[in-house]
Amino acid sequence: THFGFETVPEGQKAERVYKVFESVAQKYDVMNDAMSMGIHRLWKDALLHTMNPLPGTRLLDVAGGTGDISFRFLDYVHSQEARRWRREARALQTPSWKEIADSYAPRAKGHRESRAVVCDINKEMLKVGRQRAKDLRYTTGLSWVVGDAEELPFDDDQFDVYTIAFGIRNVTHIDKVLEEAHRVLKPGGRFLCLEFSRVSNPLLSRIYDAYSFQLIPVLGEVIAGDWKSYQYLVESIRRFPDQETFQSMIEEAGFFRVRYHNLTAGVVAIHSGFKL
Ligand code: SAM
Repeated sequence: THFGFETVPEGQKAERVYKVFESVAQKYDVMNDAMSMGIHRLWKDALLHTMNPLPGTRLLDVAGGTGDISFRFLDYVHSQEARRWRREARALQTPSWKEIADSYAPRAKGHRESRAVVCDINKEMLKVGRQRAKDLRYTTGLSWVVGDAEELPFDDDQFDVYTIAFGIRNVTHIDKVLEEAHRVLKPGGRFLCLEFSRVSNPLLSRIYDAYSFQLIPVLGEVIAGDWKSYQYLVESIRRFPDQETFQSMIEEAGFFRVRYHNLTAGVVAIHSGFKL
């Protein structure tokens, strides 16, 4: 009883994927929480910990959808900055206001703003993201760009970090996406991918299969009135390459020091690599 995405001709995949995300956009964030029981938040936090960005970082968040990764990125760099400033103020024991001001001034001057570009092929997802940014009061450091991961609308050597979270399994040509990631990163820049992967423990794997095949489309129907889109979701997870295979694809695209680590027993993995 599957939707038949497995047999969709390559030329039609992009169109189908577009329709899926167009139709789920409004419910996307609620569904993420429902289907993962909130755990997607922890996976996304883990991505930020792996990234550990410095202030001034330029991030390109591809397939960025409604902005989850970029919002976390801004929160992360801002909290790092605040922590460091507090530490410095404390180090100046009993500082006068003048001393505090003097110690902040050079940093404030040399302060490079951290920025994130959210890029997604789907206008509806970006629209929801923009509205969220407004509601959550992110006023600076964010821009929203419609674009295809396989053909990014950016010049070479532009970004310090490239992220793609739960996006790469939706594209038609993974190799093109990796090539483009490599092209737009600055030398020394880092590629980071958060994606569903393979559970290797046989018992856990059976439980996970049962959960996803039986329950996810039902949740999709009940919460979003959309069985098919969520059926697609489960199928796309099944067809995505395992940890090791995906690692060698990233290496083939020219990245160095490629590695991965599993989260939640391999339900999800974070792959990373550097452009030299
Ligand atoms: N990164 C967000 C997150 O973690 O919540 C959104 C992930 S969502 C599951 C997948 C996103 O990939 C959708 O917003 C979809 O529009 C986008 N997408 C699919 N194919 C794409 C492509 N070729 N280029 C850019 N984005 C694409």
